[in-house]
Amino acid sequence: METMDRPHALLQSIFGFDAFRPGQQDIVEAVASGRNTLAIMPTGGGKSLCFQLPALLRDGVTVVISPLIALMRDQVRGLTEAGVPAGALTSGNTDEETRAVFDALEAGRLKLLYMAPERLASGGTANMLRRIGVGLIAVDEAHCVSQWGHDFRPDYLRIGELRRALNVPLAAFTATADAETRAEIVTRLFDGEAPETFLRGFDRPNIRLAFSPKDQPRRQILAYAAARKGQSGIVYCATRAKTESLAAALEQAGHSACSYHGGMEAQDRRAVEARFQTEDGLIVVATVAFGMGIDKPDIRWVAHADLPKSIEAYYQEIGRAGRDGAPAETLTLYGPDDIRLRRTQIDESPAPPERRAADHARLNALLGLAEALDCRRQTLLGYFGEEAAPCGHCDLCDSPPERFDATEAVRKALSAMLRTGEYFGTGHLIDILTGADTAKIRERGHDKLPTYGVGREFDKRGWQAVFRQMMGRDLVRPDPERHGALRMMDPARPILKGEATIELRRDTIAAAAARPAVRMLVSEEDAPLLSALKAKRRALAEAAGVPAYIIFTDRTLIEMAETRPASLDAMARVSGVGATKLERYGADFLKVVTGAEAEMPHPARRKLAGGGAASLYDRLMAAQNRLARGEDGCEKPLSCSASQVAKLAEIRPSDMGTLTRLLGERRADRFGAAFLDVLAEG
Ligand code: ADP
Ligand code: ZN
Repeated sequence: METMDRPHALLQSIFGFDAFRPGQQDIVEAVASGRNTLAIMPTGGGKSLCFQLPALLRDGVTVVISPLIALMRDQVRGLTEAGVPAGALTSGNTDEETRAVFDALEAGRLKLLYMAPERLASGGTANMLRRIGVGLIAVDEAHCVSQWGHDFRPDYLRIGELRRALNVPLAAFTATADAETRAEIVTRLFDGEAPETFLRGFDRPNIRLAFSPKDQPRRQILAYAAARKGQSGIVYCATRAKTESLAAALEQAGHSACSYHGGMEAQDRRAVEARFQTEDGLIVVATVAFGMGIDKPDIRWVAHADLPKSIEAYYQEIGRAGRDGAPAETLTLYGPDDIRLRRTQIDESPAPPERRAADHARLNALLGLAEALDCRRQTLLGYFGEEAAPCGHCDLCDSPPERFDATEAVRKALSAMLRTGEYFGTGHLIDILTGADTAKIRERGHDKLPTYGVGREFDKRGWQAVFRQMMGRDLVRPDPERHGALRMMDPARPILKGEATIELRRDTIAAAAARPAVRMLVSEEDAPLLSALKAKRRALAEAAGVPAYIIFTDRTLIEMAETRPASLDAMARVSGVGATKLERYGADFLKVVTGAEAEMPHPARRKLAGGGAASLYDRLMAAQNRLARGEDGCEKPLSCSASQVAKLAEIRPSDMGTLTRLLGERRADRFGAAFLDVLAEG
């Protein structure tokens, strides 16, 4: 009984969460009971809790290996703030910090030790770990052992050896799901012996998905950011130059924004990372170089100014939003130029042909998502092998696209391509279809073709949408060897031959409203309170020199604004408010909610806040006050200490003997009978 409830008790008291997220409990149980485990969870699924909580349940130190220094420092800070002794050994440490960690280790004071994999290369590390008594090894980003993945870390190959040397259970975590990577993790970390494996779903229900065809992309991004003013966001761009110009445009529009890309000096990059981590409402305009190591849970939106390179990259990049579980939004812009660019990048890469074919397939999956006709989330999860019902809050569920039978249109387009020897790009093909009178058409005699002018049912823009969707469905591909001339692909053949039909979307590129509606995280009524809570959080964070979310996440503040706790007990029930944080910040935030100075209960009482013991304590106190001067009200005043009463509320003795032992003769005499009555009521 005791042991079964401990994970829950710790979940509430240390981490301040009411309930496990889906999957967490099973993983925590497996890890805590010392079984080798591999957990595959999507980003933001709550992996860290799955080793942090078992670390508290197990004897000895839990060693956490992670490649991300920023993330390690962040977690150590978060744990310390929650009252859990943790430390990190990374190259980012000052000598002083390192010494403090070693001292704490030797004194047996640490529960979690975070370590960069490079540490494993030094011979002393294994000895040191053996001496301090390790109870568990946790490996974050376990896919870094995969030599074929792009995050390969050679030092990760030493982890298996460490596990053997220490002979302790190992728990591996990753968000990368493909079967090959999984198999490689089992080989390298577990010597091929299959660990207990958990594969969690890939849905991130709080992230809203949306795509939009490019149409003045800069204006689209500016409008999107304007509707989310003051919220932290990331804009991903394909080129370095674009990150700079777009960041400048956002600054000009009154946002706080900066750019980030791989060509910047390391120290400038670190400065941006640090600003992003701590500042509320900063927008970072970045190339994909920005991401690994960013562990900000309250990123409210992610926009792609250019199409990502694959569906996996897309999933990973949008996955950085809303890790705190509060609503987050994404928008991905795409157009024919993006498709051309991504295809060319793949074709020109030095990878072997099978690899290039696989990359085209991954790009196709993303284009299929971009051009989807039904629920985006359903389409995305379908790619990861999960079935789902329509989500009801993606852009396509919100406003289903108008579709039309495009079989004729597609055949006309294919015919124009084939009759001109698959030698031209969309611009010229559209001129032929719409019967335009250009020099190029006359020179080549294309006005004599039977397809000349057969497509007057669409204007130029309409045909662009048709060609873009044809590229998106991989019916045609730009040929890099012929400067983007379109070439027909196999899936188009049945349509050309009249054996298959095809539906396409009618694009409605409505001009973005001049004044976009502001998106809010809470109802209008709760918005002022949420801003006040955020202001309080900012002040506390600045004073403590930590990122705002280390104090409380957006999600916690949203819940405070919506539920308006009126007492510390109610505050303790807000998700994200653990005992230590309640103690530290509860009163400050309560004051913001109630507008009045909170009456601070005795520390012994505060510790009980939120639980069943709290109301028991209050009733015991009432009984005591009634009897402070005895039954008849004229005896010498007498009282129990707050901690004595708290102890009674916790232990709930049911007989006078125990009560007397806890309170002493005199107090038991005066209050014993009344207390036992209260305790018997429960
Ligand atoms: P990841 O799986 O990406 O490592 P994290 O461990 O950083 O995710 O968790 C993401 C966010 O979810 C964090 O802000 C964390 O505090 C929060 N979280 C984790 N578990 C729970 C839970 N049981 N209830 C509420 N929030 C949780
Ligand atoms: Zn949907």
